[in-house]
Amino acid sequence: MEIPKQNLQRYTNLTREFTKPGYINLNPIQRGGVLTEEARRAILEFGDGYSVCDWCPAKTPRLDMIERPPIKQFLEDMARFLGMDVVRIVTRCREAKFITFLMLARHRGVKDGYVVIDSLAHYSTYLAAELAGLRIKEVPNSGYPEYRVDLDVYAEKIEEVKRETGEYPVAVLLTHVDYQYGNLNDAKKVARIAHDYDVPFVLNAAYTAGLMPINGKELEVDVLVGSGHKSWAASAPTGILAMTEEMAKIILARSKIVGDWSGRSFPQKELALLGCTVMGAPIVSLMASFPHVVERVKRWSEEVEKARYLVEQMERIEGTRQLGVKPKEHTLIHIESEGFFKISQKHKRKGYFLYHELKKKKIVGIQPGMTKHFKLNTYGLSWDEVKYVANAFIEIAEKYGLQVS
Ligand SMILES: *Cc1c(COP(=O)(O)O)cnc(C)c1O
Repeated sequence: MEIPKQNLQRYTNLTREFTKPGYINLNPIQRGGVLTEEARRAILEFGDGYSVCDWCPAKTPRLDMIERPPIKQFLEDMARFLGMDVVRIVTRCREAKFITFLMLARHRGVKDGYVVIDSLAHYSTYLAAELAGLRIKEVPNSGYPEYRVDLDVYAEKIEEVKRETGEYPVAVLLTHVDYQYGNLNDAKKVARIAHDYDVPFVLNAAYTAGLMPINGKELEVDVLVGSGHKSWAASAPTGILAMTEEMAKIILARSKIVGDWSGRSFPQKELALLGCTVMGAPIVSLMASFPHVVERVKRWSEEVEKARYLVEQMERIEGTRQLGVKPKEHTLIHIESEGFFKISQKHKRKGYFLYHELKKKKIVGIQPGMTKHFKLNTYGLSWDEVKYVANAFIEIAEKYGLQVS
């Protein structure tokens, strides 16, 4: 079938408005994934298809064994950096969760087992459990305005699963920092509870690993999952699956299948990874940004200071407050604004006015149409940029007659 010419023309010379010079992008999911110059260069160099496979070792043909480019060493250094024993790069944090749930469930031989998770977990945590054939039990949170997850309830929920099914859950998962309110949770506390029942503890560090220092050993984590495109200055898709030695034996179990006619078998291949995962540009972007990431996590406390500053400034605006735990311990900020909402009800552009006003000031990344609740992330902005953003919100508020204290 012929494809219309004008369609094809649209696929060349692709541009991306949000990367134009001078723009500030506050989109929560995008701040930690901005590439380094090194990663941009690496992508050009390794952009072709299976580019990292040039020197795949014949004896151990597997992504994690490649030494040119130095993937093998990179994975070891990554493990060291996270305080874990073994690391594999997969396509996404959600895939790391799915693989973990699937392999732990297989190992335990349970069908319809449970994972206990926090009630602010990312939707992909639910789907990962569902696809792995598991059910979920949620640990509640306090609701408005703090949405604090009640970590002590993990023990109750683990016992509830035991009463209901006669078995302990397959895993316990905690979202280290949730995507809604940016609340930071005490991982060690949940690890201790899980271990009291001999249940593996999975820490979802999608919003923390790569941004702030994390020591999995210190936090008593069994499996740590993360997202390269969210928090490691890498291209999508890249996910981090980091484990203890003990977990690796289960999660990275090798293939056992044998062809019934040919006798072919693949005992080198890690089953749940389907052999190899990210074989090109994305993994190289993750690797090229790693030296930068190793340094940037040391500056985390200043990143949090910037977030706190912005909250302080925004709360000067009538009817505007930060939701979630205060003061901020992360750069993802959830704002509730009765003030901007009030304006939206009279404005001809309705809720979209805020987006347009911000855009005029070259600020993007706030969800169009949202005024009463919106999220933003200050990670990686300079002090000047944070101050510029704070002023922009205040100027917009004043323009529409909101009180600013
Ligand atoms: C963004 C996010 C994810 C999804 O990460 P992917 O790498 O895109 O799968 C999972 N969990 C949490 C808590 C997140 O914030």
